[in-house]
Amino acid sequence: MSRVNNVPPLDLSRQYAQIGDEMAAAVQKVLASGAYIGGPAVKTFEQEFANYIGVSECVGCNSGTDALVLALRALKIGPGDEVITTPFTFFASAEVISGVGATPVFVDIDGATFNMDVDRLEAAITEKTKAIMPVHIFGQPVDMTRLMEIANRHNLAVVEDCAQSVGAEWQSQKVGSIGHVGCFSFYPTKNLGACGDGGAVTTNDPAIADSMRMLKEHGQSARYFYEEIGYNSRLDALQAVILSIKLRYLDTWNAQRREKAELYSEFLCHVPGVAVPRELPGAKGVWNQYTIRLKSQENQPNLASGNFRDSVRAQLQENGIGSMVYYPLPLHLQPVYKSLGYQPGQLPAAEQVCREVLSLPMFPEILRDQQERAIYGLKDCLAQSTQIQ
Ligand SMILES: *Cc1c(COP(=O)(O)O)cnc(C)c1O
Repeated sequence: MSRVNNVPPLDLSRQYAQIGDEMAAAVQKVLASGAYIGGPAVKTFEQEFANYIGVSECVGCNSGTDALVLALRALKIGPGDEVITTPFTFFASAEVISGVGATPVFVDIDGATFNMDVDRLEAAITEKTKAIMPVHIFGQPVDMTRLMEIANRHNLAVVEDCAQSVGAEWQSQKVGSIGHVGCFSFYPTKNLGACGDGGAVTTNDPAIADSMRMLKEHGQSARYFYEEIGYNSRLDALQAVILSIKLRYLDTWNAQRREKAELYSEFLCHVPGVAVPRELPGAKGVWNQYTIRLKSQENQPNLASGNFRDSVRAQLQENGIGSMVYYPLPLHLQPVYKSLGYQPGQLPAAEQVCREVLSLPMFPEILRDQQERAIYGLKDCLAQSTQIQ
């Protein structure tokens, strides 16, 4: 049952109310044009997005997952290779590494930023390592200065997973323009969301861009001549025109997210038992999620159920306040990766964070009143639990 006064974790209807007419007119034009795959709409968006990110090349594709696959394939990463990434991310980041036949190697995270702990990166490099995949999780950039310095010293490629961080900046450079390839998702809940699936890769290397262009089109070099086993992974024209419109609003929406995040932090930073997310000096995050940590009282190895965070979340839900858990189980302990041989306790920061994270309602249009309800709802809930103990 949805109540009128519920605070949803995310509400896409506000954006539709703002720009629905504009999108409908653009969609209507594409419908009338008959050019549904490829064509000028896709080219235009690719150019606009390359300009926005600050790179020379952008290739649209079918999803953020495919963007990562295209990047790894273009960099010739495959069986026998290792790619270093974070265990605290959406499954796709590691799935694609395995998908191209390589092995993901997980480096523990910094529990304050939720990102890969760059201090631990170098120890994970072996002679098989071919690439590093930083994931700018929740919209917060990884320290790319130090990461690139390590990558360059070891001659490793860097594939940035920017799925949650479109528009985020590290020292005034947009993420996706710093590593060798940037990978973006336009899944509807990302900061730049299509009305369906979509993705893009960005790079300053024309040869890598050409390779990704070929791979997303069945590995075709000239019409009906194939050089590689590729994919059917295109951005379609309807999504492209929608994305072109939304791109014009993205900076405003991201600025609104920053304001909302500041308000949350201001109200929550002194609440006992709550750790608010940290933004590194030099980072300008775009807050795809606003995620706090609720200090767990117990120290249970099972990360999925029955902990303090989960009981808080259930209580909030009862009061009509939506929240989400990204992510309940780190990737190195997922059933599918049993064969990699990681043990519980091996990446302790990621494991602890998975027990403690709670993402609060966050979208550009969230009202002050809704944020306050979430804040006071959480405070009440925490006050009650401490009384019980
Ligand atoms: C969403 C997401 C992806 C995958 O993007 P899709 O468009 O859903 O395929 C990859 N990595 C991260 C970190 C994501 O959040």
